[in-house]
Amino acid sequence: MKIFKFGGASTASVQRIQQLPAILRSYRDEQLLVVVSAMGKTTNALEKVATAFYDGAREEALQLFRQIKDHHLTTAKYLLVQNYLAAEAHLRDFFTEVEWLLHDKPVREYDYYYDQIVCIGELLSTSIVSAYLAESGIGNQWIDVRDIFRTDGNFRDAAIDWAWSERQVRDNVRPLFNQENMVVTQGFIGATSDNESTTLGREGSDYTAAIFAAMLDAENLTIWKDVEGVMNADPKQFPEATILHELSYDEVIEMAYYGAQVIHPKTIKPLQNKGIPLYVKCFLDPALPGTVIHKKSVKGLPPIIVLKPGQVLIHLHSKDFSFVGETGTERLYHLFSEIRIKPNLMQNGAVSLQICLDDRPDKIDRLALAAAELFDVQIERGLTLLTIRHYDAEVLQRLTEGKQEVLRQQTAETVQILMK
Ligand code: ASP
Ligand code: MG
Repeated sequence: MKIFKFGGASTASVQRIQQLPAILRSYRDEQLLVVVSAMGKTTNALEKVATAFYDGAREEALQLFRQIKDHHLTTAKYLLVQNYLAAEAHLRDFFTEVEWLLHDKPVREYDYYYDQIVCIGELLSTSIVSAYLAESGIGNQWIDVRDIFRTDGNFRDAAIDWAWSERQVRDNVRPLFNQENMVVTQGFIGATSDNESTTLGREGSDYTAAIFAAMLDAENLTIWKDVEGVMNADPKQFPEATILHELSYDEVIEMAYYGAQVIHPKTIKPLQNKGIPLYVKCFLDPALPGTVIHKKSVKGLPPIIVLKPGQVLIHLHSKDFSFVGETGTERLYHLFSEIRIKPNLMQNGAVSLQICLDDRPDKIDRLALAAAELFDVQIERGLTLLTIRHYDAEVLQRLTEGKQEVLRQQTAETVQILMK
């Protein structure tokens, strides 16, 4: 059995969806579980619906939702003939779910409504893709992943109940392959024991696919993207970026940790636990080799470059110039977890601490306010964090030239430089 994941880019238009059968047909004799995320930018559009609804702007929410409906209905109409009516009925069930809710007044927390609304994107895209594949002669079964993946009620960042979900996969997903070689389902979403929809965090479809791979003991997982594979830098920032054909799990975890937008960071662990290889391939040209990520360590990697803009540096000074003690640092770590914010870099001296974080103004303000009870606080904004793994003198020189360096941390493997 193999797991495939198709992201928003691969279903962003009628033409893109029309390319899927050709890719899938060449795996005809294999058992395939196909995870699909929402079409194009649908998740962003649904977020706007959720916000309007929560702000009490019902008409605006309904109007925004109407655009999403029309877009999906039009896509279905272009793609489908025999299966159109059945697919339309399926889509309309989901539309109704949301419209019902939009006619209510919000009484619960925002994140709850966000999940009830945003989860629809994946349900719509998979309904269309499943019907289109069937019409193209690729028999498949559509399932609602909310019946399979149970989560806690931490809306927008729900955690999977592993034992419960694994039982569902064994009892209700595995047997489906006795009827058809393909199952099509959603990434990114789940449900609580009360049948409330949940989401696993933005870009969470990769993670869903990895969980299925682990629970089904898949041979491998392929994530189909609109890029050639994993690159050593973002080609939009560095046109000279090159593809990395082979990486270890650990390398990818490091890259994601430093902010590379490669693969959802949670994705690797379930695969690593079971030693399941991950392929990143290009749906625009499936013949390209792409990248394989596996447990073998990979030697001779080129410098891997990650740029993270929008950084803030918080300078903390002990108030009376006594050493920064355990109480202060302990309190700080508590604050990080309370506020749910993760430092990207920390450096401490005798009487001072410097912390670099993503600039989420609301969270930074909370942190600064609480830290001010223990320290003198100064905040420096508008910084960029450069991380280079496997660096050499040349690349370091080239990327820091003419930049004002604020902070540097360096190990044999990795250098991080906070710059203005
Ligand atoms: N559709 C969701 C998002 O855009 C999940 C995903 O694409 O992985 O975040
Ligand atoms: Mg996506």
